[in-house]
Amino acid sequence: MTPLCQRGAASCGACCGLYNRRDHSRRALSALLDRRTAALAHAPRTEAAFAAAATAADLGADGGDPLFPTVRVCPLLGWLDGDRSRLGCLAHPAVTGGADLRGAGAYDAATCDAFLCPSHAWLSEEEAGLVEALCAGDPWLYGVVVTDVPFVRAALRGVAALAGARVEPRHLSAPRFAGALRELLGLKEELRPGSDGLYGAFRPGAGGEPVPRTIDYAALSRRPSPHDEILLCVGADPRSGNDLDALEEQVRARLDACLVEFPG
Ligand code: SF4
Ligand code: SF4
Repeated sequence: MTPLCQRGAASCGACCGLYNRRDHSRRALSALLDRRTAALAHAPRTEAAFAAAATAADLGADGGDPLFPTVRVCPLLGWLDGDRSRLGCLAHPAVTGGADLRGAGAYDAATCDAFLCPSHAWLSEEEAGLVEALCAGDPWLYGVVVTDVPFVRAALRGVAALAGARVEPRHLSAPRFAGALRELLGLKEELRPGSDGLYGAFRPGAGGEPVPRTIDYAALSRRPSPHDEILLCVGADPRSGNDLDALEEQVRARLDACLVEFPG
């Protein structure tokens, strides 16, 4: 499959630690990327100079304590274009014009080169293309969606169940349907800062392994939601800091909008 990190219309920096901070709102992360990009823009293209510029601007401490202390936050992730529609590694040779400066970051060049997140093995090319098209030019949304395969599949299944047909790439040529489906993926924007759901239907176990979460409906004295699969992926559990009823209503409304606009 075409790597998910940099595609024609989408870019991701999740594994560089982009979302690993308490305030991972779109506004906060844009400001973070602004600061990093500006701080490194005029640094000489050597590893030592890059590291010194990052230290001088205190980029390593930007954002406070990480949510997941075991996941590194790299200060070398920034904007690759003036429109702030593409993010990526400011130390990559394709960005610096030749020098590989990734050793000045949280890992080393070999580690950065070798890593591919599990979505590369799980998403089909068609699913990846749908996510890319729906999140085009919006790195914040693309990063949280493309790394959450169960969410992507639950959303597409939810629409297919209502429409009686699976969502195909050709359907996105209907702008109103594409807009409605993008809004469904945009449920990730409704989550409280620092809450579960941004990272999918898992939380780290004692050894860092992914442990599935569940919504404890019995404890809430209510029946499981028919939209449980999607709600689980967005962390719609009051213990996760999110409002289950409000998110359930949002899921219902956004699925209905997809159905109304589905180009049959
Ligand atoms: S999280 Fe996955 S898609 Fe995103 S930059 Fe890392 S490897 Fe690429
Ligand atoms: S140096 Fe590695 S971890 Fe840092 S931004 Fe570049 S690719 Fe990501």
